[in-house]
Amino acid sequence: MVLPGARGTVKGRFGRLVDVKAMLEAHNLSKIYGNGRSQVVALKDISMSIFPGECVALMGPSGSGKSTLLSILGLISRPSNGSVLVQGKPAGDDERSRARLRNEFFGYIHQEFAVIENESVERNVMIPLQYARIRLTRQECRKRVLQVLEQLDLAWALHKNVSLLSGGERQRVAIARALINNPSGILADEPTAALDGSSAEEVVQLLLSFRDQEGFVLIATHDERVVKKCDRVLHIVDGQLV
Ligand code: ADP
Repeated sequence: MVLPGARGTVKGRFGRLVDVKAMLEAHNLSKIYGNGRSQVVALKDISMSIFPGECVALMGPSGSGKSTLLSILGLISRPSNGSVLVQGKPAGDDERSRARLRNEFFGYIHQEFAVIENESVERNVMIPLQYARIRLTRQECRKRVLQVLEQLDLAWALHKNVSLLSGGERQRVAIARALINNPSGILADEPTAALDGSSAEEVVQLLLSFRDQEGFVLIATHDERVVKKCDRVLHIVDGQLV
């Protein structure tokens, strides 16, 4: 059981242990899809905390509840029971405030990139800025997009149509879109599953570099190469952390 406002220790600079507050907490989450005979219990009583600067792998077989957990933690869907706390505060019920928190606090990366086909890289990466509380001018948006693309070595693709890019490049576009609002945490659902070896390696390195800026990264994955690089592994089986 994790108590609200959970604290923990993480390794700080020079390897020192630092006392920190959880950035994201789950308390007794459960999720049931459907009802009657077609009911599926996807999550059972999950409690966990993630701390600043951590990279955590969420591992489990297909159908064990990884995507469901990520989407509840990322405030995309709601649990049947239990609560999510973001920086010690309950995420709440009001959809507008959840949407704002979701857009400001999280960057979400999907297995299949979820880029908008037949749109330029610039338009794809800009999308979250349109929902941000602080409205930037078009020129400021463009400048910000270019900065993020430069960090990811993708500035050359600014005006390219995403459908012309490789799988690895598309995933980097998805990462740029996840980073554009300077989120505090990244949730990545099998981000390397559709990539070849070298692209997968590149994507993992990019996600890990985010951790160095005191953000957290939670990656649902089967990929041993990813797991090895994470600070901690959570195992989920049949909707339960084991
Ligand atoms: P994983 O990401 O580990 O593959 P999921 O979270 O996608 O697992 O699924 C967990 C369980 O919930 C599975 O049994 C799956 O079939 C079921 N499930 C997921 N989404 C839905 C849905 N929208 N409706 C009904 N059942 C679902």
